[in-house]
Amino acid sequence: MNDQKAEIDVEEEPSDFIRTQIRKDIAAGKQNTIVTRFPPEPNGYLHLGHAKSICLNFGVAAEYDGRCHLRLDDTNPAKEDEEYIEAIKEDVQWLGFDWGDHLHFASDNFDQLYQMAISLIDADKAYIDDLSAEEIRDYRGTLTEPGRDSPNRYRTPDENKTLFMRMKNGEFKDGQKVLRAKIDMSSANMNMRDPILVRIVNARHPRTGDEWKIYPTYDFAHGQSDAIEGVTHSLCTLEFEGHRPLYEWLIENLPVPSRPHQYEFSRLNISHTVLSKRRLMQLVQEGHVSGWDDPRMPTLRGLRRRGVPPQAIRNFIAKLSISKNEGVVEMAAFDFEIREYLNRNAERRLAVLNPLKVVIENYPEGQAEELEAVNNPQDAESDVRMIPFSREIYVERGDFMEDPPKKFFRLGPNREVRLRFAYFITCIDMIKDESGEVVELRCTYDPETKGGNAPDGRKVKGTIHWVSAADAIDAEVRLYDPLFSNENPGSDDDFVIDLNPASLAIQSGCKLEPSLCDAAVGQAIQFERTGYFCVDGDSTPQKPVFNRTIALRDSWEKMQKK
Ligand code: ATP
Ligand code: MG
Repeated sequence: MNDQKAEIDVEEEPSDFIRTQIRKDIAAGKQNTIVTRFPPEPNGYLHLGHAKSICLNFGVAAEYDGRCHLRLDDTNPAKEDEEYIEAIKEDVQWLGFDWGDHLHFASDNFDQLYQMAISLIDADKAYIDDLSAEEIRDYRGTLTEPGRDSPNRYRTPDENKTLFMRMKNGEFKDGQKVLRAKIDMSSANMNMRDPILVRIVNARHPRTGDEWKIYPTYDFAHGQSDAIEGVTHSLCTLEFEGHRPLYEWLIENLPVPSRPHQYEFSRLNISHTVLSKRRLMQLVQEGHVSGWDDPRMPTLRGLRRRGVPPQAIRNFIAKLSISKNEGVVEMAAFDFEIREYLNRNAERRLAVLNPLKVVIENYPEGQAEELEAVNNPQDAESDVRMIPFSREIYVERGDFMEDPPKKFFRLGPNREVRLRFAYFITCIDMIKDESGEVVELRCTYDPETKGGNAPDGRKVKGTIHWVSAADAIDAEVRLYDPLFSNENPGSDDDFVIDLNPASLAIQSGCKLEPSLCDAAVGQAIQFERTGYFCVDGDSTPQKPVFNRTIALRDSWEKMQKK
């Protein structure tokens, strides 16, 4: 944790309209302590979009010596579940943030919210409505036409109070009655046309069980929970901008212990994926992915399983602007941060994903030796490990061409290459099967080139990776590509049609250097020349499984594309 902190510290001090506002408020002596909150609804798992909000809320609190609460906005028992509550806590911690003693639940405030509702009724600022959801929508009017008053709008406070208590006692069915604020049915802001504050939901709540039959709406619970917790700056995304007048009206008209303010910033959108719990839920339920933690998912669980380090996510978020401009960030920008972080931090290993056997004819049969390999050339203090070398090795099928073009600096008939950390070898022959496919290469090595240099000064352009055949571990490697082939999934109606059919390729029979049997689940490793990988939770000693976190850019592929 300490070194992660150090890495955050070297970043430039962030500045944006929210931080500017906070500095102003501090200078004006408005608050002693800055208090923010991250308020997820426990109806799904957290995704990269949430990470923006988490980093902003916890980040701002830390920068100004304040605190950030984790608040579960558990006001809709029909959709919420204990499973999600636990997962959200775990994911926020994994991302690197700590709410200390400040884990809160909107449901902690149900009693107080009930009392606040009564006080609004007493002040004749709220009423019980019997209209159905459809009628309420109908009466609400449109953007160009004012709404109409409900026939129930002028009930007396006493009558309202009696009905409200009967709602609480469970005397009505879902949707039969609601509590509405009495504001202005002709307001230009639709949110102010007597919004619903409390509704009936007959479902078991994950925390309060069957105690309540009535539940506050988001609008009623949110600002009041902010006020009860002493939140000073309530940061949310732009879709709540139109709710701010209501947020303020409620704070104004209720006996709240503090006066928080709401500020809105733009959501994070990323190309080639979807950031919406509803859509992610659909992918899981329809079986397009293996679960919320499928490594192709943009959920924090999925990213974690894929091997994306939390610091790479924080670095990515730190570079996003906090503003009111809606836009789409290229997935490539996220990939860049992942590579950038892993390049500095992941140890290197040799692994051959698509093996082609090589027999080194002049290497004595039965002989073996250990060669020294550096673990991370990016780290000056990196240590070394020993890797076994022998007469039979595997190389990558793609590192050989029978009829190579001039610029292919790898193996081909009579071509010499360097084996990483080992020797120069020259291909002298190849063996084919009946179908004409090359199944084995015969090579010679130059014993003088141990460690990778020729004493006579001759150069080879290519260096390829390899694994000693007798010592190799067999593994399954899961290669992930973007989940969607369309950069803006669902630009037509159905986002599922934009799924990338090739987003997962399972490669079995991969050959890994033996030290990889010690890799821990989730630990980031670079397979040299290929990409970054980590051990999957499905892995067993009998059947190791690795996930590709992200590919390295392949220089040959890049050249061909040009
Ligand atoms: P979704 O649209 O995926 O269901 P949500 O906004 O309904 O997300 P909540 O659980 O209500 O999910 O979100 C908790 C907090 O995370 C909110 O303050 C919300 O503004 C913020 N948030 C959600 N998605 C994003 C996003 N893409 N970018 C930035 N913040 C987000
Ligand atoms: Mg929401």
